[in-house]
Amino acid sequence: MRHPMPPPPSPASDWAWFLDVDGTLIDIAPTPSAIHIPPAMPGLLSALAFRFGGAVALVSGRTLDNIRMLVAPFRPPAAGMHGLERVTAGGVVIRPSEASGLDDIRDRLRIFATAHEGVIIEDKGLTLALHYRLAPACEDSARRAVEDSVSRHPAFRMLAGKMVFEIAPAGCDKGTAVRAFMDEPPFAGRIPVFVGDDVTDEHGFAAVNDMGGVSILVGEERATAARFRLADVGACQAWLAEAAGTAWGGR
Ligand SMILES: [Mg+2]
Repeated sequence: MRHPMPPPPSPASDWAWFLDVDGTLIDIAPTPSAIHIPPAMPGLLSALAFRFGGAVALVSGRTLDNIRMLVAPFRPPAAGMHGLERVTAGGVVIRPSEASGLDDIRDRLRIFATAHEGVIIEDKGLTLALHYRLAPACEDSARRAVEDSVSRHPAFRMLAGKMVFEIAPAGCDKGTAVRAFMDEPPFAGRIPVFVGDDVTDEHGFAAVNDMGGVSILVGEERATAARFRLADVGACQAWLAEAAGTAWGGR
């Protein structure tokens, strides 16, 4: 029998933090725009960054602009759209041009979403997300629609998340984003720590494991590359606040 996953070790002063957003820092909402950011969250992240030499990055499926809006006035280095775009600690934005084929995929999925009530297509510019949280019975047909449209454009691939299928260019993931940050100040030379909840976070877990870092799953135990676990978003918030040396007032 597998042993239960242990809680994370005590933070060391040379950690570099890579934090997923939805389902990790904040609870997942019925739609991506309906989330509630605890008012104390930007302060918590600022305090964490202050204590760890600025080595705190957010790594999300959301766009960079969206991530930064959520945690304003804190302006962290961040990777958006699963590593496709990045803003470095120095404020340099790294973003590829649009891969051809996305227009066709978008058209096909729009037709699908229009025909299935509750299925929402989110256009992030360089990637797409098909959300079925409001229509869970549509999972199989949504998966087939995404697989069919992506199979026509080999530059893209599907990422299955919690009640969402993401369509993104192949070759980028949260692990490649972590590795890129770890080549740059103030991350280079530190121990990378990845905290996430979803399937797409497995790339981040694997990358930090490779680099001798600390991988932490938020949520129920499951098959995962993560080696440590926090029970839920609340436990994660409290643990980060402790690491940051701040009081956490909760949501
Ligand atoms: Mg997440």
